[in-house]
Amino acid sequence: MFDNLSDKLDSALHILKGHGQITEVNVAETLKEVRRALVDADVNYKIAKEFTTTVKEKALGQDVLTALKPGQLMVKLVKDELTQLMGGEAEGLNLSGTPSVILMSGLQGSGKTTFSGKLANYLKTKKTKKPLLVACDVYRPAAVNQLQVVGEQIDVEVYSEEGNLDPVKISQNALAYAKQNGHNVVIIDTAGRLAVDEAMMTEIANIHSAIQPQETLFVVDSMTGQDAVNTAKAFNDRLNFDGVILTKLDGDTRGGAAISIKSVVNKPIKFIGTGEKMDAIDVFYPSRMADRILG
Ligand code: GDP
Repeated sequence: MFDNLSDKLDSALHILKGHGQITEVNVAETLKEVRRALVDADVNYKIAKEFTTTVKEKALGQDVLTALKPGQLMVKLVKDELTQLMGGEAEGLNLSGTPSVILMSGLQGSGKTTFSGKLANYLKTKKTKKPLLVACDVYRPAAVNQLQVVGEQIDVEVYSEEGNLDPVKISQNALAYAKQNGHNVVIIDTAGRLAVDEAMMTEIANIHSAIQPQETLFVVDSMTGQDAVNTAKAFNDRLNFDGVILTKLDGDTRGGAAISIKSVVNKPIKFIGTGEKMDAIDVFYPSRMADRILG
């Protein structure tokens, strides 16, 4: 994960090794390389610049920990700032409501259906919940089928209505069904498109206002770099979602989405997807991710 970024940050931070003290010159030189590494990893230039400005102020400021050597100090400052940029603390799901309703949004192929299954499995095994998966991708029979296959794999019931092309109605019926059958979490998988379009946005916004979910999650493929951030912005403008799910972090992703999405939409990354299997799901901890990035 983020191998390229990790290597570049490592060599940037190496510049200070062997220096006896922090100076304007060696800090500037180091942070120029840090900025370059971030931009190469698809972090937006403005965010990368703000990042290095903050680190510079801290490095040259009054409160530097003089016990640390310059190299160690800079590693610490970069790690702390990366953690902050990615949200600081881990944020869990709001599982209030009987049932708690979780609405999944995102583009086609982002990993919504897979993640819906992973989340149902996670809630079932870790939180002893009784989830219901709901198939609202009414345009693609294959998508409904895919969710059913996932449901069978993890032994979670899937609600679908053959022939009903109204996802708002289906989700409302699913809520009634969940209440009658003792499901305390409802996860609604919706239709995505290949790119942001008005019909998709209207549809998901309609489902959102009809069922008022406790959690609206935006699923995004981390391999899509700056596009991931732009898509997040478009969905957030419309849905004001509660959290981000970053998928495919097991692939050769550069890291820009993980680092910058929080500061662009001001919503936390709540989980990451790290594979195709149903157990390839992790809670997102900003500090652990910063540790991984810095190796
Ligand atoms: P949807 O169209 O948004 O519902 O996306 P899918 O759930 O169908 O996922 C699209 C493809 O990405 C499928 O082949 C999934 O197996 C794959 N996929 C989903 N999440 C991950 C992940 O975290 N890692 C990897 N490597 N593949 C994933």
